Amino acid sequence: MKLPPFEYAAPATLKEAVALLASHGGEAKPLAGGQSLMPMMAFRIAQPSLLVDLRKLPDLKSIAIDKDGVRLGAMVRWRDIQDDKRLAQAHPLLQAAIAHVAHYQIRNRGTVGGSVCHADPAAEMPGIALTCDAEMTVMGKGGQRVIKAADFFLGALTTALQPDEILIEVKLPAWPAGRRFGFQEFARRRGDFAMAGIAVFYDPDAGGTASNAHVGVIGVGEKQRRLGKAEAAINGSTLDEAAIAKASAAASAEVEPQDDIHASAAYRRALTGTLLERALKSAAG
Ligand SMILES: Cc1cc2nc3c(=O)[nH]c(=O)nc-3n(C[C@H](O)[C@H](O)[C@H](O)COP(=O)(O)OP(=O)(O)OC[C@H]3O[C@@H](n4cnc5c(N)ncnc54)[C@H](O)[C@@H]3O)c2cc1C
Repeated sequence: MKLPPFEYAAPATLKEAVALLASHGGEAKPLAGGQSLMPMMAFRIAQPSLLVDLRKLPDLKSIAIDKDGVRLGAMVRWRDIQDDKRLAQAHPLLQAAIAHVAHYQIRNRGTVGGSVCHADPAAEMPGIALTCDAEMTVMGKGGQRVIKAADFFLGALTTALQPDEILIEVKLPAWPAGRRFGFQEFARRRGDFAMAGIAVFYDPDAGGTASNAHVGVIGVGEKQRRLGKAEAAINGSTLDEAAIAKASAAASAEVEPQDDIHASAAYRRALTGTLLERALKSAAG
């Protein structure tokens, strides 16, 4: 289908971009890689009167790593994350998850900011942001603010962003040495959106007892979410067979899937537990 008519601007500064968004009263939209927005426009799900292209804005394309964590500029692409060798140590869970995003061509264009702001419940990046307690820095006409991931994702394709706000960066807290992690997802074909996906990490002590467990699920229910009961089952355990089975059962019981054209609710519930079991086994090595 052809796109509906729209105006186009490619501002050179963030201030200008925010002013353009603000001047259109919610009718303008930022354009990042276009990998979600263009199909949405083609299907008339979105009909913005103005596209504000972010590609000329400075400083949105860098991956910065320091003792406080990893800061991903909003225009960092999936390919940039895959190619950055520093992330194998600085955030291996991020790299493991992003390896599942879409196909080669889409990974060359799709961005961190586009995915986080699009907020598809099955997308990997919002799931990682939530699981890892990320912070989003956004700028609007009132200036900058920082939104915690837990407050950012409100529902399917819905975030706490105001219409005049642009996401600048996503900050993932530092990844300590010795942390164990796993990422597992199931899709019909590699690169498709996940039917369900699980991200997990925990910090074991010298005796192997886990603490600080974080479990996030994508593709199951209205939005990406943490699974507190599964986390509680992991904390204080040594992740033996019995503990893994208990955590997996907790995860299956905790999700609230619905039937859709891809899978039944019962299937997704079972899949969630199976994926957590696999993720924990891979985390334990
Ligand atoms: C065939 C196909 C398969 C895919 N499979 C997957 C998959 O398996 N997993 C996955 O996670 N994704 C998948 N995607 C989506 C892909 O990862 C996109 O890259 C992602 O949705 C973000 O798109 P984008 O950067 O191109 O953003 P755009 O499409 O340009 O924008 C998406 C939305 O975010 C807004 N936006 C963008 N940047 C900002 C910003 N900085 N501040 C405020 N608002 C902003 C836009 O206005 C728009 O509403 C797939 C896409 C396709 C076409």
